[in-house]
Amino acid sequence: MAESPLKLCSRVGCRNLTRGRYCADHIKEKHQYDRYRGTASQRGYDSQWRKVRLGFLRKHPLCVHCLVAGKVVAATVVDHIKPHKGDKVLFWDRANWQALCASCHSIKTVKEDGGFGN
Ligand SMILES: [Zn+2]
Ligand SMILES: [Zn+2]
Repeated sequence: MAESPLKLCSRVGCRNLTRGRYCADHIKEKHQYDRYRGTASQRGYDSQWRKVRLGFLRKHPLCVHCLVAGKVVAATVVDHIKPHKGDKVLFWDRANWQALCASCHSIKTVKEDGGFGN
């Protein structure tokens, strides 16, 4: 009577019933996934990006948006010209990178999030 009701497993497409979030099959899978993301993928990716980003900023030290406006401002952000939205190919494509200062980057981000388009 104290037991919580059975629900469908939270894993998409799984029709097993469970009292927790995932059924016995998928609890294990979820943990393995988290562990994988936490080490090899996530951290390797972050440190690699940090390194590559610094190298890019060394070669492109000035904000390109400010340069167009005739201002010389140090770039601190590597921006993706076309939003990568999690696409790894687009993310690592240097042709899709540009150096921006923090304020130009935040203006661009606001525009993209606001859905004004280009
Ligand atoms: Zn399941
Ligand atoms: Zn700028």
